[in-house]
Amino acid sequence: MNTFAGNEFFELAERYLARHYTRFKDLMICRAEGSRLVDINGKNILDFLACFSASAAGHGHREITMAAVLQLITGLTACPGKVLHPSIVLCAERLTQLCGMDKVVFKNGGTEAFESAVLIARKWGYTNKGLSPDKAEAEIIVCKGNFHGRTFGARSASDVPQYTRMFGPLMPGFVWISYNDIVSLEQAISSKTVAVILEPVQGEGGINVPYDGYLRDVYRVCDNNNVLLIADEIQTGFGRTGKMFACQWEDVQPDLYVLGKALGGGFVPISAVVGPSRIMNVLESGEDGSTFGGNPYACAVALAAMKVIERENLPGRALASGTYFMEWLRHIADRSKYIKEVRGKGLLVGIEIKQEYHALEFVESLLKEGLLCCDARNNVVRFSPPLNISQGDLYEGIQIIGKVFTS
Ligand SMILES: *Cc1c(COP(=O)(O)O)cnc(C)c1O
Repeated sequence: MNTFAGNEFFELAERYLARHYTRFKDLMICRAEGSRLVDINGKNILDFLACFSASAAGHGHREITMAAVLQLITGLTACPGKVLHPSIVLCAERLTQLCGMDKVVFKNGGTEAFESAVLIARKWGYTNKGLSPDKAEAEIIVCKGNFHGRTFGARSASDVPQYTRMFGPLMPGFVWISYNDIVSLEQAISSKTVAVILEPVQGEGGINVPYDGYLRDVYRVCDNNNVLLIADEIQTGFGRTGKMFACQWEDVQPDLYVLGKALGGGFVPISAVVGPSRIMNVLESGEDGSTFGGNPYACAVALAAMKVIERENLPGRALASGTYFMEWLRHIADRSKYIKEVRGKGLLVGIEIKQEYHALEFVESLLKEGLLCCDARNNVVRFSPPLNISQGDLYEGIQIIGKVFTS
């Protein structure tokens, strides 16, 4: 209990950190275990965010920790992309098998993997659809309300002014459609379209779950028009929605998966584009790369994270816990004057607040009561706890949410 030191940290934060995040005022965490965080005053906080789904197996999972330590003591943590090591090979094998794909490009942040997917899709278009690279004709269809990251490509694909308006010139070549609207897609496809990129459930956009069959409809339209379907499963992948990948809810195998977040188990930044050889092989030597992408440390950890996700059946647990969680939230919604709708898939869950209220106020109230979650846009409170959260922790969280939303 050293509150004095705590205040000092907050002052240092104010002094030295740029202002690109609205940070929680009184929260400074220093330890974590499973679904629990501990702040510098020893206060215990339920983590219903799991670093935006990255910590899928909870914090400090023993087996992932051991894999990290074992790799550290080999002394091999960084190595150039030209140099092979066992971790990258084993990680690539496991990941492609998990995805039912052939080949992978590793990057670090999710947004970088998005860039690689755009890169691959464009080159695929120029080599397979007879489009002119000199005229830079390739078009990629993206959805309104999407979130693909914050690099310039991902930003340019956004229709959210916060990410775009003050940062031009942006990258051309994107065409927008309405999410969850197949007619909008049919009208947008042209002879220049090389790919459609979408999230099976929009996370940052407000936990938007499309109608049953939407992904299959999108797949069919893409297939009929010789257009790639690229699934950004950075947030939905690795069990979050109750299947290993959310596309599997509709038996859709996309042309490319874009993955990140939970791939690193919440321990390391690692992201990937995974696809079949017929597409991945358009990339030639030197056309893409990354100093830290696929480094030995990240790959060893990711391999362990994938093993844990499979062996502990985290997709199945997400489905069971998510169903239970949403049942309770709907029960709370019936007694609450603030809630418009509860929606989600697996353990990717949102509460949409009525228009006259702000999600952030509820997020702050929940934190005061000891539960960490987050807002999405202005009107959705989003929850994404670790997929192996215990019944006890889940129920404790539900009680806190019930208290805040019915008071
Ligand atoms: C988080 C996220 C990204 C960006 O990943 P970063 O690791 O923050 O770069 C892209 N797409 C989706 C769907 C995400 O949830």
